[in-house]
Amino acid sequence: MNFMTLTEKILSRAAGKAGVEAGENVWVNADLLMTHDVCGPGTIGVFKREFGPKAKVWDARKVVIIPDHYIFTADSKSNRNVDILREFVREQGLSYFYDVIDDPKGHWVFDSSKGPLQRQYGSAYAGVCHTALAQKGHTRPGEILFGTDSHTCMAGAFNEFATGIGNTDAGFVLGTGKLLLKVPETMHFRLEGKMQPGVMAKDVILNCIGEIGFDGATYRALQFDGSGVAGLSMDDRMTIANMAIEAGGKNGIFEFDAQTQAAVDYRCKLNGTQSSYQPVERDRDEKFVYELIVDLAKLEPTVACHPDPGQRKLAKELGHIKLDRAYVGSCTGGKTSDFLEFARVLKNKRVVIDTFGVPATPEIVRDLQSARWGEKTVWQILVDAGVQMTENAGCAACLGGPVDTFGRMNAPLKCISATNRNFPGRMGHKESQVFLASPATVAASALTGKITDPREFLS
Ligand code: SF4
Repeated sequence: MNFMTLTEKILSRAAGKAGVEAGENVWVNADLLMTHDVCGPGTIGVFKREFGPKAKVWDARKVVIIPDHYIFTADSKSNRNVDILREFVREQGLSYFYDVIDDPKGHWVFDSSKGPLQRQYGSAYAGVCHTALAQKGHTRPGEILFGTDSHTCMAGAFNEFATGIGNTDAGFVLGTGKLLLKVPETMHFRLEGKMQPGVMAKDVILNCIGEIGFDGATYRALQFDGSGVAGLSMDDRMTIANMAIEAGGKNGIFEFDAQTQAAVDYRCKLNGTQSSYQPVERDRDEKFVYELIVDLAKLEPTVACHPDPGQRKLAKELGHIKLDRAYVGSCTGGKTSDFLEFARVLKNKRVVIDTFGVPATPEIVRDLQSARWGEKTVWQILVDAGVQMTENAGCAACLGGPVDTFGRMNAPLKCISATNRNFPGRMGHKESQVFLASPATVAASALTGKITDPREFLS
């Protein structure tokens, strides 16, 4: 009998085969294709070139389009990209388009005279694609999700095979609903124990990547399981799966449990999306190419230093590194739970360096503006601490963007950031430096102006 890993099981089912082995090439059927404003126009171009100007996508209910990257900028070419997506959605009759504006015949223009903080989107806008996919009921166990974005692997938190693909592959999927994939080998990360106060999911994944290096999982699946997973929220699992690609991974994947089921069922019902799915379970005798046991109780606040996500150090060892700014946001670090931990450290205190807060989605903006701690909302607590909080949820400076992007580093600054990638130039200026850390570590560092262990501020 062929024992398979979670990834192999999903690929084997999607290929219509009884079993697959790592290294084998298989044609798989896609359950969903997601694209956004940066790669969508290119993907559409490939699709039209290869399948013809009048071609129709393989399934109009299985394409999800989420503008999120270069949105809140006066750059006209970036604004135009959103219009290209809207035209394609209209022409194809696609079911899921989370437009920036409400007028289906309108044009998107960012009004920079209103400033970067005030909300400028309509009612359908959903924010950062990976966080939005989950909130809008598009992540389902056992499915195959392709996205034209490397952090598509975040949906592996929901026990699905989710991976980033390029525009050419995405154009092919648009036309056929299929893709040829090499089955990746699987690396096993067994999580045990419980995280201590001050330690977050970001510290878990920075430790895993630090162990294997930023290319240590190239074209491999990262399977996270073990008794410690039960103590991780779905947000925690999303943070961890999101960064599988930061070690070069093809995908990251978690086991299915009652928490997964509750989250997926709630979101599918709320949004009226497909509610049926088939999770995959472990075989227990599956073969891995690598095994690591991670004792969550022993982890400490961790930082990935410039210039790559594998440069692991403990926050408490880096007090000599002075910072110019702090940033909380992105798919991996801009969720409601991330901002709550950020606010817990900052409450009744004041940051001493420029500090930016960019919620990943409009729903998270609403969460933070409605959650009250005593007299104040969490949003107000952050503003009072000196954080520049924007209502314009999106990718913002996580990947630099046009020069007027909120929080972008336009000079060779040092930034501590709750985002997921820190290769040179990632957040703007090519000589800037980014230190990746949890929202709690970002908060503590914003209070002191140097890299700081958040446990110093725990009461
Ligand atoms: S928030 Fe950053 S990592 Fe996430 S999709 Fe946007 S640019 Fe990519």
